[in-house]
Amino acid sequence: MKIDVSFSMLDRVRLAIGANLIEWNVELSELDELRDIKFKLKKGIELEYTEVDQGHGLFAYKGQQVVLYIKDHSWKPEAIENPEKGNKVHLTQCTTLDHMQKRGRIDRYVATTRRDDVYLCDVVNEMGDTPYEKEISLYPCKNCLKKLNYNSYKTAQGQDKISVVKDFSLTEYFETYSTFFTHLPTHTDASAPLNHYVEEWSEKSKQVRKKANWICSECRVGLSDKKYRKWLHVHHINGNKSDNLFGNLKVLCLLCHAGQPGHKHMQVDSKGKKDILKLRKKAS
Ligand SMILES: [Zn+2]
Ligand SMILES: [Zn+2]
Ligand SMILES: [Zn+2]
Repeated sequence: MKIDVSFSMLDRVRLAIGANLIEWNVELSELDELRDIKFKLKKGIELEYTEVDQGHGLFAYKGQQVVLYIKDHSWKPEAIENPEKGNKVHLTQCTTLDHMQKRGRIDRYVATTRRDDVYLCDVVNEMGDTPYEKEISLYPCKNCLKKLNYNSYKTAQGQDKISVVKDFSLTEYFETYSTFFTHLPTHTDASAPLNHYVEEWSEKSKQVRKKANWICSECRVGLSDKKYRKWLHVHHINGNKSDNLFGNLKVLCLLCHAGQPGHKHMQVDSKGKKDILKLRKKAS
């Protein structure tokens, strides 16, 4: 998109007040740094817990929403095969982390934005040889799920409750809260309370999509199957992320969402794209 901007008015004012033109350069280094951080976060960045921002009560690093986990699994080889045995992935400052902090046991964490539900960990084989890096599955922390009431975790019963843990998808998780991270302030506040929008949002997002029968309001693709639900998003029509009135919310599939104004940089998951194209074809 080409934008024509005219500075003639400004220039007239400049002449009127007798100000001189000065040399001006756009500084790119900050942008480069952000790009570099974004790239590294896809794999994971090891950092001190105190370096993590908690602007909305959700973890972020340099403005990017992240999840945190402890990389060292060298003392629990069972975790390679069984995510139940691994370290838990933290989404927010939960009671587990509170306890650890009180006992002065806050370790170094890896912050990551990856979306493929595996985590790069240090593991050992049965012989107990030197640790090596391996991507393994891990489960989210139940106390974090409870605090966020993620996918109605607090009220879910039996198999549904277990499924919130076992079927946890990073793609769905990051998408659920993505609207909170478009203008994240870069301050660090370890004691920031959970923003009430964040607290209610997961539930609201689910409600809105359910009310729409899990159908995209533009292309009408049906995504009610549990494994496809993560490709259905809730878009804020006026761009104001805290305006969660039903009239401002639009249910859109991943592809239609990415086509909305101002969404040029939205990450489109290739698996999601494939699923949606397949389902659209089936329906036509
Ligand atoms: Zn936790
Ligand atoms: Zn659509
Ligand atoms: Zn949107």
